[in-house]
Amino acid sequence: MTSRTDKYGRIIDYMRVSIIDRCNLRCRYCMPTDIQWLPPGEILALEEIAEICRQAARAGIRKIKITGGEPLIRKGCIELIHMIKAIPGIEQVTLTTNGVLLAQYAGQLYDEGIDAVNVSLDTLDREKYKEITGFDALSDVLNGIAEIEKYKIPLKINVVPQRGVNDGDCLNLVELARHRAIDVRFIEMMPIGHGKQFTSISNQELLQKIQERYGQVEDEKKVHGNGPASYCHIPGFLGSIGFISAIHGKFCSSCNRIRLTSTGQIKPCLCYEDHISLKEALRSGSKDQVYQLLLSAIQKKPAQHCFDQDQAMITEKKEMAQIGG
Ligand code: SAM
Ligand code: SF4
Repeated sequence: MTSRTDKYGRIIDYMRVSIIDRCNLRCRYCMPTDIQWLPPGEILALEEIAEICRQAARAGIRKIKITGGEPLIRKGCIELIHMIKAIPGIEQVTLTTNGVLLAQYAGQLYDEGIDAVNVSLDTLDREKYKEITGFDALSDVLNGIAEIEKYKIPLKINVVPQRGVNDGDCLNLVELARHRAIDVRFIEMMPIGHGKQFTSISNQELLQKIQERYGQVEDEKKVHGNGPASYCHIPGFLGSIGFISAIHGKFCSSCNRIRLTSTGQIKPCLCYEDHISLKEALRSGSKDQVYQLLLSAIQKKPAQHCFDQDQAMITEKKEMAQIGG
């Protein structure tokens, strides 16, 4: 099986797969409290998702990230991971979760051979966690993280800094990497859905704060995952600190991904509403057509996003939870 390059010469080998639009949290930059859920029939069945992953493997996809909404609230999430792990050509299956149900599922994720888990966590302060996510669930998330560590599953914590909300917590989150093999990554807020209401804090600003506290950090060249994060190492720390600087450090020239929504749309780029629907081809039983549509989605990837330009150019109207991040 060959890898695919798009028309800009980028190798597209990574697909983020949203398996549900619903969530058990309401992070204020991601999911409005009055969000309308999709009718169940709109959402792909697990076997349909697995079939798209099989065709994606034919099209050159090697790594799959399971996302949502919150993937662990979807019944059958573990079975789906099992199915995707069995697909020839798929080299890595990882999960991104808010961690609330992680303690319950860590053992099963380990048994299925999950390759890594990302946990989204914006603060270590219980009250602030409640304020950001709408739920008093910080201790569940921390228990989930501890379980993942127990199984020695590679673990990253994803933090979205929000000015005036959790910017003061970022250095406390950095501390998680001191004695533990956890990478802590900061993701610049993107102007998608409710994220538009927040001003993005640049990772450069954050790095400066980190250097003020810890002194000069070392750039790391080691590749940590599938994504665009750049990493640094604080002397004496076990884990690394990562930066995903979608706004202030555009990385489109090395973009390697497509996204599958829970309703079966393939998105070539996060920023634009353009998509290709696979559902009709899938439900008519035409696997080859699904494969061809995946190839055309790869070829339709634009050169770059426009998050750093006029917001009117951003045509995507969905919330991040409906896309999968
Ligand atoms: N519920 C899972 C979780 O929270 O990890 C998976 C879905 S969530 C949409 C995936 C990631 O997108 C999370 O790390 C979340 O913080 C991030 N996210 C949501 N809205 C965002 C925005 N506007 N800008 C940047 N990241 C965002
Ligand atoms: Fe749910 Fe994840 Fe969005 Fe938070 S970031 S509301 S946990 S989907």
